[in-house]
Amino acid sequence: MSLTARFSCLSDYDPDALSVEQARAFIRSQLTPVGTRERVALRSALGRVLASDVIAPFNVPAHDNSAMDGYALRHADLAGSGETRLRVIGTALAGKVFAGAVGAGECVRIMTGALPPAGCDTVVIQEVVELDGDRLIVPAGQRAGQNIRRAGEDLAAGKPALAAGRVIRPAELGLMASLGCAEVSVYRRLRVAFFSTGDELCSIGTPLADGEVYDSNRYTIFGMLTRLGCEVLDLGVVRDDPATLEAAFRDAAAAADVVITSGGVSVGEADFVKPLMAQLGEVLFWKIAMKPGRPMAFGRLGSRGGGDEHAAWLFGLPGNPVAVMAAFYQFVRDALQLLMGADPLPGVPLLPAVSSVAMKKAPGRTEFQRGILSHAAGLWSVRPAGAQGSGVLRSMSDANCFIVLEHERGPVAVGDTVQVQLFDGLV
Ligand code: AMP
Ligand code: MG
Repeated sequence: MSLTARFSCLSDYDPDALSVEQARAFIRSQLTPVGTRERVALRSALGRVLASDVIAPFNVPAHDNSAMDGYALRHADLAGSGETRLRVIGTALAGKVFAGAVGAGECVRIMTGALPPAGCDTVVIQEVVELDGDRLIVPAGQRAGQNIRRAGEDLAAGKPALAAGRVIRPAELGLMASLGCAEVSVYRRLRVAFFSTGDELCSIGTPLADGEVYDSNRYTIFGMLTRLGCEVLDLGVVRDDPATLEAAFRDAAAAADVVITSGGVSVGEADFVKPLMAQLGEVLFWKIAMKPGRPMAFGRLGSRGGGDEHAAWLFGLPGNPVAVMAAFYQFVRDALQLLMGADPLPGVPLLPAVSSVAMKKAPGRTEFQRGILSHAAGLWSVRPAGAQGSGVLRSMSDANCFIVLEHERGPVAVGDTVQVQLFDGLV
């Protein structure tokens, strides 16, 4: 079934008034991961998506070991109540195997990470004991097996330590290192081509003529794609001319898995892009009930016409610089992660914050205001980051979050709770 037919089947989807959730759900429903694998050295896997399960070849930790600095002893030697005196016969160090056995009435000083000597089943922390010459005085109340990390406690041999689809962060690098993995199977990077459209655009490095603006979208898009770990292909500025545009779309579709454009989808401009798209593939033109970022095109483009094997997914984003970023983060990011083979994520969390100002808002569209979240007197509060025009890139730069004002919501009063989406995560 064609993309258009699949979209038309959704009876409550109106291309001229699509909600953010509907657009997101439809895009997701059409995509499947690209799926090609490659092997890379462990460090190069950072930020990539794991392509096969990692099975633990051995237990981690490989042996029982002490969780604390203290004394290893035989729990059976301890008196049921009152103190016990034991003879200290040596020291067990991390990375060394203690030679010799610990007999009845004896114990060994032990360091964190060291293997408990044969016979010892319990570690008592150094803070609670007393030494009297070579005698250790252990108070009552010690639990058998305490302060010993068990072999296989982190990862059991033969069990999956990580599942395919996991995005590899520093913790996963460390986990795989602990299993001795020098190489990892990951999905190949997603290739994403992008260009800007508009006769008014000038590339940096060239002096601005009257009426021109520098093309900033190619830089925000480059940055967002690079952060996601995509292989980027910058195709420059393309003039608003059918033949030039057609060539750019064909080149982009031939070279990439995904094509992202900015500009050319607003009313007026779309009229001239639409017939072109109809020749190259299947593209849906939407007006999404959101601000900023209302017009958007989504579809499939062939390098040699509709339906050929080199088809790429197309995201036609609006031209306004803030709209580009909002649409990218709300639709494209998610879609690219899915194509990369990343696990379905719960999405970027929405967190409550108290609005320190009143905000205008009409029900019937989702707004993504650029916000500054700050902490004072035990409260997280948020306010808009300056002028909210969809061309004011400064607002994105000053902000640390989106203030997400839901579809049905009306105006916001001072002290109302609103939802925010943080720009930065910890890892
Ligand atoms: P459009 O969607 O093409 O009508 O563009 C809407 C607004 O965004 C216009 O003011 C454009 O000049 C501006 N714009 C479009 N593309 C870019 C770009 N690549 N960089 C900076 N501004 C742009
Ligand atoms: Mg334009």
